[in-house]
Amino acid sequence: MIDFLDPTAVAHHDDWPACTGGAPVRTAPWPTYDQGAVMIDEDDIRAAERAVRSQLLFRYDTRPYERTETGMLELEMAEFFGSRFALATTSGTTALTLALMGSGVGPGDVVGCPAFTFPAAASAVAAAGAEVRLIEVDEDLNMDVEELAAKLPGLKALIVCHMRGVASDIEAIKELTDHHGVILLEDAVPVFGTTYAGRRLGTFGAVGCFSFQADKAINSGEGGLVITDDQETFERMCALTGTYEGRLKRHLDARGLPTLIDERSLPIMSWRMDEVRAAIARSQLSKSGRRRAAARHNHDLIAVAVDRLGGWRRRVCPTVGDGIAGDTMILFAPEGSDASVLAAALRAEGIPGRCLGDPTDTNARCFWNWLFCFPGTTEQQRKALAPRSATLLARAIDIPLSPLMTDTDRADLIAALRKVASLFRQEVAA
Ligand SMILES: *Cc1c(COP(=O)(O)O)cnc(C)c1O
Repeated sequence: MIDFLDPTAVAHHDDWPACTGGAPVRTAPWPTYDQGAVMIDEDDIRAAERAVRSQLLFRYDTRPYERTETGMLELEMAEFFGSRFALATTSGTTALTLALMGSGVGPGDVVGCPAFTFPAAASAVAAAGAEVRLIEVDEDLNMDVEELAAKLPGLKALIVCHMRGVASDIEAIKELTDHHGVILLEDAVPVFGTTYAGRRLGTFGAVGCFSFQADKAINSGEGGLVITDDQETFERMCALTGTYEGRLKRHLDARGLPTLIDERSLPIMSWRMDEVRAAIARSQLSKSGRRRAAARHNHDLIAVAVDRLGGWRRRVCPTVGDGIAGDTMILFAPEGSDASVLAAALRAEGIPGRCLGDPTDTNARCFWNWLFCFPGTTEQQRKALAPRSATLLARAIDIPLSPLMTDTDRADLIAALRKVASLFRQEVAA
């Protein structure tokens, strides 16, 4: 076994950075989902097969709600989160759109959105016909609570994202949105099952949204989920997914509840989950605790090693150590160093780090690339909408982690960070 905290354990690596002609730390692929580094086992395969063999791939056939894979997934998810209602859908982005439209957000409304998040939230706002207002992020790329307080008046809803697996200060944010009567929605996609202050993320807001896309903690290829305690919001979200002609009633009959809305008042988007994906998601849910523990353990080992290396500032949660999923690590280049150059140096070592705000590498997570939100503006004008976030993103290096990482992978990452840190130390000293 390699002790990756021991510098001599990686002494076989060429100390000359690969970007200046040295040998790279590694040439083996980094364990990311697009390279097949996913947790799919025989149970998942059997679950998918069971669903296909049933010949019943549509969730609303003649079977009772609680005998379908999708119905069972929803009941299991509601229990997992301690929520009154759960509804499966086709993606995280449709989940966010359902949350907005189901909460009554529409044309003429303004929705707050963090300046660092996947464009799903802004896309959902656009799909609902509403307008995005950017909220700056703080030094750790989490939603800035002070900035939010100033921008809350006039918002109909606020989407908070626990981006890259780090919880935002959701308790403080909820206090503010409650005070101003703003609907709080959570993009909890990167933190499935992760707790913050003893409570699962996604349960703080009026609606919590999740994705089952292949890169997420529950992987059914594509898929999504919304959870809520509000029955009317739930019914509207059901109707939007396509529970026409009495199908909505099945969701409520299963819980012994009467229907509160006229489902004909909402458009039918066909955002329903199918039985094969639901079967896979159920199988993955049953062992999601193990995946979560492995991701967190891997993250924490690396965090200790990075802190021991020195020089790199690590992104943390408002309550240090709490609310971390551990599927990613973001490091900041020190003052005076160019994060794009350092990220390129990391890639030369065989680690796929990306500077988020790299001007030569269009990153969908940077708000100035959301042209659909701000038509007819220049990049400079868009960056001026959240200038502090733009500056911070230009200093941030995004590194994908995986619960499948081995001691060798961790040793390689630390060795690469050490080599690249030697670059910026010289750069600063010069
Ligand atoms: C992946 C992701 C989404 C979108 O999920 P899809 O299922 O791909 O639509 C939304 N928000 C965040 C933070 C994500 O990482």
